[in-house]
Amino acid sequence: MPSSGPVTVRVPAKVNVQLAVGGRRDDGFHGLATVFFAVGLFDEVTVTPAETLRITASGPDAHQVPLDGSNLAAKAARILAQRYGLEPNVHLHIAKDIPVAGGMAGGSADAAAALVGCDALWGIGAGRPELLGLAGELGSDVPFGLVGGVALGRGRGELLTPVETVGEYHWVFAVAEGGLSTPEVYRECDRLREAAAAGGSHAAAVPVPEPSQELLEALADGDPVALGAALFNDLQPAALQLRPDLADTLRAGTEGGALGSLVSGSGPTCAFLAKDAEAAEAVAEGLLRSGTCRSVRRATGPVPGATVVPG
Ligand code: ATP
Repeated sequence: MPSSGPVTVRVPAKVNVQLAVGGRRDDGFHGLATVFFAVGLFDEVTVTPAETLRITASGPDAHQVPLDGSNLAAKAARILAQRYGLEPNVHLHIAKDIPVAGGMAGGSADAAAALVGCDALWGIGAGRPELLGLAGELGSDVPFGLVGGVALGRGRGELLTPVETVGEYHWVFAVAEGGLSTPEVYRECDRLREAAAAGGSHAAAVPVPEPSQELLEALADGDPVALGAALFNDLQPAALQLRPDLADTLRAGTEGGALGSLVSGSGPTCAFLAKDAEAAEAVAEGLLRSGTCRSVRRATGPVPGATVVPG
């Protein structure tokens, strides 16, 4: 049954607790083995019937959100409408709380939310496999926005399998001034690897990316100390090359008592895992005092993916 609207969908940000990057494929993407972890920083996308497709955004960083057809949420509405022979005539309002261009997949999250919201508004009732397929066409991080929790991503990140995990983890995020372009960070990663190969360095060989058993065991055991020690991101050297100031941020969080730290995805947001809520508070205070970031956010996880907010 179509809904007269509005439909509001809440969708979380992600941090990649593991991001193993393989070589560049023929299609230009990199093969990945990544463990996505959904954290409790949320955007809300509200879908209302309208004369034409229209986007608005609110929140402190709303001015950074594109309001034209390039918005991933608009693309999601279009692709779903096209698949079911409908007109994408909706107003999408994005209440933005996920840092923009921060390596936390905010745009992808909005696309996942728009798929779920439009599906509900138009009464399509598309199944999970159908929505996951469309999400994968929209972008490598979009399927995870649908499922949330913790999941292993293969391929370019779009082929997901759930990861067993217990317990709640406490995260602190240092939001940087400005953003980083994901394609630029991958290019820098390739450049660094090519330079290492030219120099005959050991770092030259790009292994096939594989999930880390230590990391998967830490998640299955609900062991934040082991997870903190197992965090890793192959894009981190590239992000640090483009933004050397992030080294100070990572140091500040570690000195504040974090169990582990890493650049989130392609950055520049830095993520810190804390033992518990009290330790997270101490890490957050240390980061704020250090003056090495624009703002500090705390969140727990894992949390579910895109979910319709009861009206
Ligand atoms: P990822 O972690 O998936 O690489 P990101 O978190 O680094 O992404 P996003 O917040 O998704 O980055 O934004 C990257 C760019 O995408 C923005 O600079 C913006 O131009 C564009 N964009 C498209 N749609 C959106 C959206 N709904 N919200 C924010 N940015 C969007």
